[in-house]
Amino acid sequence: MTLLEIFPSLRGAMTPRLDPALWPISTRHDQSGRICIGDVALEDIADQYGTPTYVIDESDVRHRCRTYREIFPDSEIVYAGKALMIRAMAKWVSEEGLGVGVCSAGELSIAIAAGVQPSRIILHSNTKTASELRTAANAGVGRIVIDSPSEAALLASVCTRSQKVLIHVTPGADTEFEDTVATVKNATHLHLIGLHCQLGSHITDPERFRSAIGTMIGQMADIRRAHTMILTELDLGGGHGIAYLPGDAQLDLTRLARVIDESLDDACIRNRFPRPKIVLEPGRAIAARAGVTLHRAQSTKTISDGRSFVSVGARLPADLREGDLVGVPGTGAYHHSMTSTNDNVCRPPVIAVLGGVARPLIRRESMDDLLAREVGM
Ligand SMILES: *Cc1c(COP(=O)(O)O)cnc(C)c1O
Repeated sequence: MTLLEIFPSLRGAMTPRLDPALWPISTRHDQSGRICIGDVALEDIADQYGTPTYVIDESDVRHRCRTYREIFPDSEIVYAGKALMIRAMAKWVSEEGLGVGVCSAGELSIAIAAGVQPSRIILHSNTKTASELRTAANAGVGRIVIDSPSEAALLASVCTRSQKVLIHVTPGADTEFEDTVATVKNATHLHLIGLHCQLGSHITDPERFRSAIGTMIGQMADIRRAHTMILTELDLGGGHGIAYLPGDAQLDLTRLARVIDESLDDACIRNRFPRPKIVLEPGRAIAARAGVTLHRAQSTKTISDGRSFVSVGARLPADLREGDLVGVPGTGAYHHSMTSTNDNVCRPPVIAVLGGVARPLIRRESMDDLLAREVGM
């Protein structure tokens, strides 16, 4: 039995501390103890838009972008859109000076619809169709990341004007790298400017970047030797880890900046290679903490061993009651973008909050939406 069950009146009086490592930057309690984000009470959003609902704090997204730009003033920061790709996100990050990374024609069209300058867009995915490559090249995207010799040949066949290209490498484990370089070099319109890697996801140890940088600068020096070409960009991908639970480790960006700096210095001196421009592509680290998902506890039951079940999923406080509102922080990345219509449940809306105003960015999916794709019976 919890204190709250003995003194239900305590519920209103208690304002539990919300871990600032997990909750959006603008999270506050109002005078009645309700949790507010962007000066809007989550209860009010749930009342107006229903549940489940994704709430996204615009000021948090902008804050993460600014932090990256402050800590990495000489690097290009590109938001990996697959974490949460909606027009508003693309617009906010562009306004903060970030580029946008897209991994499909769909993401590309959202970025362009949001007004992102095509030259600030990078396309990468591990499978790109000819039509995706053609769409991207015709749109004038800044860079296309190539994975293999066959993809380089495919891109060469659809490009009708100069296209900047990065080659994706798995540091220390590439078999087709030389062939890819040769194919790009021999294509009239393809212009190889750098290398790209993605070291993993949820990386919390900045040292992971050190050996990758050493290997890749070595590869750049090899290309200079073999092809008399000096590559000027090194894209280190994203995968920057953040905390999801209190006490979780997260990637310390200041330490990352130091590791990048030191290892670039080392490797460039060792290879007598000019320092390339660094590109970083965080997705989760920009979007995750801005998002809070609201669920209404639907039904609860307690089983004989004392464990309680509440039908929304995650691990929850034992004193949760039906009708209570549950806010799950850290859900800005890979939640909306990966929601499915499994069980034909309509997908939740996305509501932006800022300065006391809540505005829908994506409306809740309707039964009509679900039926609209049914074209035969
Ligand atoms: C997924 C991905 C990212 C972003 O990963 P996060 O964990 O969201 O930062 C960046 N670059 C590439 C190439 C990716 O595939």
